[in-house]
Amino acid sequence: MSDRDGLIWLDGELVDWREAKVHVLTHTLHYGMGVFEGVRAYETPQGAAIFRLQEHTDRLFNSAKILGMKMPFSKDEINEAQRAAVRENNLNSAYLRPMVFFGSEGMGLRAENLKVHVMVAAWEWPAYMGEEAKTQGIKIRTSSFTRHHVNITMCKAKANGNYINSMLALREAIDSGCEEALLLDPEGYVAEGSGENFFIVRDGVIYTPELTACLDGITRRTIIEMAKSLGYEVREKRITRDEVYIADEAFFTGTAAEVLPIRMLDGRAIGIGSRGPVTEKLQTMYFDQVTGKAPYKPEWLTLVK
Ligand code: PMP
Repeated sequence: MSDRDGLIWLDGELVDWREAKVHVLTHTLHYGMGVFEGVRAYETPQGAAIFRLQEHTDRLFNSAKILGMKMPFSKDEINEAQRAAVRENNLNSAYLRPMVFFGSEGMGLRAENLKVHVMVAAWEWPAYMGEEAKTQGIKIRTSSFTRHHVNITMCKAKANGNYINSMLALREAIDSGCEEALLLDPEGYVAEGSGENFFIVRDGVIYTPELTACLDGITRRTIIEMAKSLGYEVREKRITRDEVYIADEAFFTGTAAEVLPIRMLDGRAIGIGSRGPVTEKLQTMYFDQVTGKAPYKPEWLTLVK
């Protein structure tokens, strides 16, 4: 990944991909105190466009604020950096990774007098789990790893260190023959996937966990709004794992995962055991939006040129 042509935006400048390096004493590398975003640009009839750019930038700034990291750039500058990262790499579609991290000026937990750096990289990243997963759904398991407690780490922050938990859960799921993990919160209620929000459908009503232990996903917000516009009732509430076993449909949402049907949890088929009709409708509406084919909200797309 580090050895390729292209440009990465680093601290206000586009630098050669191979030269976008940091020192081994980079503070964030040692303690995981940093924040990041996962953003996507799609090929649209008007050209490459970033989906919900402003919302991702807002969340990045909120994450930094929660961790007490002072952003050295304005939101407009970070929006422009993301547009440039796609445009200057001549990408039609892309996954974008903005990250805010501490420099190598000092070590220790006081984290004083450290420079705050910002980088934005963009590269082509096709469907997260392949095309078949999008239509057939994926097999998941309840994780033995609990999602973060709201007072152990900050769940509203998309913080680097939070992802150790995600990676442990995902590795366990993959090693046991599943494609993704379902993490429960410290009280035992369903929280989210390793990098996705979670929804179920039962008797025509859509349910999703409240925003406590799970990330305030931008795809989650999008799907809630779209579902309501289609006339569905959407309820945010505590969900138990056995409620999922007997749901008609289940799916994940996320920038990388998009709208991903779940066909099985803990060896039990969900509903018909493949993508359900409500999931399909929302998935279609989502792809029509992000690709600019039939956008529900055209203003959610920002052209890079
Ligand atoms: N939960 C977690 C833990 C995530 O990492 C992500 C991906 N950012 C999501 C949910 C989904 O968020 P979004 O829809 O904003 O990508």
